Formats: sequence, C-alpha cells, structure tokens
Amino acid sequence: MDIVNEILRIKKEKKAIILAHNYQRPEVQDIADYVGDSIELSRKAMEEKDAEIIVFAAVDFMAESAAILNPDKKVLLPSLGARCPMAQMLTVEEIKRWRTLYPLVPLVLYVNTLAAAKAYCDICCTSANAVEVIESIEAETVLFGPDRNLAEYVQEKTGKTIIPIPERGFCPTHLLFHPEDVHVLRAQHPDALLMVHPECTAEMRRIADFVGSTSQMCKYASSSPAKSFIVATEEGLLHRLKKDNPDKHFYIAYEGAVCPNMKLNTLERIYISLKEEKHAVKVPDPIASKARKALERMFEIKNPVGT
Ligand code: SF4
Repeated sequence: MDIVNEILRIKKEKKAIILAHNYQRPEVQDIADYVGDSIELSRKAMEEKDAEIIVFAAVDFMAESAAILNPDKKVLLPSLGARCPMAQMLTVEEIKRWRTLYPLVPLVLYVNTLAAAKAYCDICCTSANAVEVIESIEAETVLFGPDRNLAEYVQEKTGKTIIPIPERGFCPTHLLFHPEDVHVLRAQHPDALLMVHPECTAEMRRIADFVGSTSQMCKYASSSPAKSFIVATEEGLLHRLKKDNPDKHFYIAYEGAVCPNMKLNTLERIYISLKEEKHAVKVPDPIASKARKALERMFEIKNPVGT
C-alpha cells in the first residue's frame, strides 16, 4: 500500500483537510494542506467551510483550540500521546491559587495551555502577539502562564510587572539551547544571523539577531538579505524554512532540539486516525465556550500569528 496515496484518497472521500504544525516530521508537513503555527492553523480550519474533518497533526492543546473554534467539525489528533508537557504544567488548581492571591490582577494565558485552563483566563496570547496583548490591558501587573521565559520577554518589552504562573513553567525543547553551541556555529558560519524563539532562555535571547515566533522567523528569513541563519527553535521548522528559501542556508542551534511529542504524529498514525476517524478531540461546554471567548478576545486585538 502506498500510504501517502491512501491518505490523500481517504482525505478527499471524507472531505477532510490535514493541518500540520511547523514542528511536524518532514513527511507529515509534505502531505498537509497547510503548515503553520497553532493559531494560523486554527484560523485556516475556520476558513475551510467545506471541510468536515480536520486532521490536526500537532499536540493536544492545539487540537483542542481547533475544536473550540470549529465546533461543527470533527477534529482528529493522530496520536493521543502527543501532549505538550508545558501545557500540563498549569493546572486549574494552580490558577485558582494565584487568582486567590491576586484577585484583581488580570490573567493572560499563552495558547500553550489546556482548554480547562483557558476557561479561567481573561485573554489568550501567542508568542507572536504576547507583547501586544499585554499592552492592550489596562493594568500594570499581569498574571501570565505557563512559560516563564515568555513572561520575562514580555516584561522586558512592555515594562509591566509580569507574574509567571506557575513560577517555573518551561518548554523542555527550547531549554536545550545554550549560547556556547551558538558560539561554535557562529565561528563556522560568521555571516549567519541567529533567530531565537521567546521560549528560549534570556541568555539565548540576549545574543539573538531576531527574537520571534515560528511564523515570524519564516517571514524574517524570507525578507532578510542574509543568506544563512542559525535557528533556535524545534528542528521541524528547518524543513519549512529550507523549502520556502531554497537559496538560503539554515543551521539548527542544537542538533538534539526535538520535541518528542510533536514527532508522535507519523504517516501511519495519520492514516489510521483518518480511516477510522479515531481520536476525535472534544471540549465540553461550558469549558469550550469560556475558552472560545478568551481566544476570540485575542483575535480582536491584532491579527495574530502563533507559537
Ligand atoms: S515544543 Fe515545547 S511548547 Fe511546543 S509542544 Fe513541544 S514541549 Fe510543548
């Protein structure tokens, strides 16, 4: 059986679309209808009026957001094990604890949270629009979770007091980047510009030529006159960067920067999930409607591009 042709055949038969996050395996990106960040993909799903099924090749919180924003469509997560560890770091109990400590302080949550957490926040943000979202709030102190590095970055940019919740939430993949690896690469490629995701540490952000989300990195690399780039985000993005910019060179800042959760979505799992309509993601009300409001408030602020 030619698995790619089978996926494409079933997809057409079932009026399905395949959306793949920038961190997916190259072969998964190559069969997808769209490749992008979480919010770009959720928006794409909303625009695809004729689609009845969405295969969301990503992790749990992204498929949940797609299901929340597209309640009339069936959203399938090819691998149920594809769960983001950072999203798991912020529980509803933790949120309630901080809300009790700071009852008058607004709560902004990164989209990298589970729907149950989003239901408790005032507004969501992505790594691309976090600064604009915080600036839009009429408060000088803001509770922000779950990524501490993104919280620090937003504090630097806005000058507001950002209280990270939990105190040390992090992405295990982005913590793998260290300046010493970059120094070695810069010695080998002295003309290369360094692009750093805001989930990386402050030490990495300090030596960056550009700090931004995956979508912003794609735009930066395409519009820059530079010919080579060192990339500090999950290695899956390099497939898209190379495809979009065949005349440029991209080097991952650390070879082991792989998100094992993102990589759980294989062609085989996509095939089974689509064929058997397995692993449908459902977010029950009232969680879904509360979380939808927090996402919609974010959409109202600025045309966001995501994580
Ligand atoms: S790269 Fe980090 S934030 Fe993204 S899904 Fe993996 S663990 Fe979660």
